[in-house]
Amino acid sequence: MKWMKFWALFLGVFIGGFGAAFFLDTHPMNVLAAVIASEEEYTESDVVAEHGVVNEETATTSLVEPASVIETSILPASATSTNAVKVPVLVYHSVRPYIKGESKQQDIYDVTPELLESELVYIRDHGYTTITFADVITHFGNGASLPEKPVILSFDDGWRNEYEHAFPLLKKYGMKGTFFIFTNPIVHHKAHWVTWNEVREMDKAGMEIGGHTRTHPLLTKITSDAGLDKEIGESKGIIESEIGHPVTAFAYPFGAKNVQIEHAVERAGYQIARTSRSGVWNDPAHRFEFHGSLSTDNISDFEKLLKRE
Ligand SMILES: [Zn+2]
Repeated sequence: MKWMKFWALFLGVFIGGFGAAFFLDTHPMNVLAAVIASEEEYTESDVVAEHGVVNEETATTSLVEPASVIETSILPASATSTNAVKVPVLVYHSVRPYIKGESKQQDIYDVTPELLESELVYIRDHGYTTITFADVITHFGNGASLPEKPVILSFDDGWRNEYEHAFPLLKKYGMKGTFFIFTNPIVHHKAHWVTWNEVREMDKAGMEIGGHTRTHPLLTKITSDAGLDKEIGESKGIIESEIGHPVTAFAYPFGAKNVQIEHAVERAGYQIARTSRSGVWNDPAHRFEFHGSLSTDNISDFEKLLKRE
């Protein structure tokens, strides 16, 4: 009995410790309240608080939303929905070489350039074609055909390492990616984020640039339409003035949304919006809750997603 008690205690401490660490690491409530509460612009410490950025070497990914903040209004799209299309959407964050000592969460959600390249090779060798959200909008609008096996590769937040590592690989294989950027770190020339010149370069090279708010708040914490318009509409205008053409795709920070937020996205002039809810079937009636699945450091998860029905 004694050894059982010991193991029960050991497991309890281990699981409790891990759970606490994970909570502190990921919970968005810890992260963005200060930004939402104040009208002040981003400071470096906000960025650190939000993204756990310590320095260039350990700059980490955006956070992952807990299921509890995802609110859905209507039944999700399915294979049997009217005009449904199967479009797997991969959601990437940092793309960079493995860093010794990074947290387990960083390790899972950061994808190394080598892994991304092997995924691009997989896409090429298995007959998939990368498309953008704009292609889907066109398809929904006028029935323009999509490739037989379409896939969308989306890169969130505007991390510099996405420009440094993902963009060259996409070019190398003649593929497209969608880069969802939030504007404040770029406007304020923050380290670890892309510059407007880099955004323009990716745009001109055929990458899709999408909106991801101004400050990356948990939008479900903003209750006024004016507050939502400021985050969603203003950032759209900022990006458009920098790249010189309309931005049509949006990604909800943390995947968090509700009906009021969907309306704000539509009011801003976006035509499609990606959640972080896993699934591959999408249809026009649910274009503001497009499925997206987090990419992990495991290529078998990647294959499973592409093959999913
Ligand atoms: Zn994000």
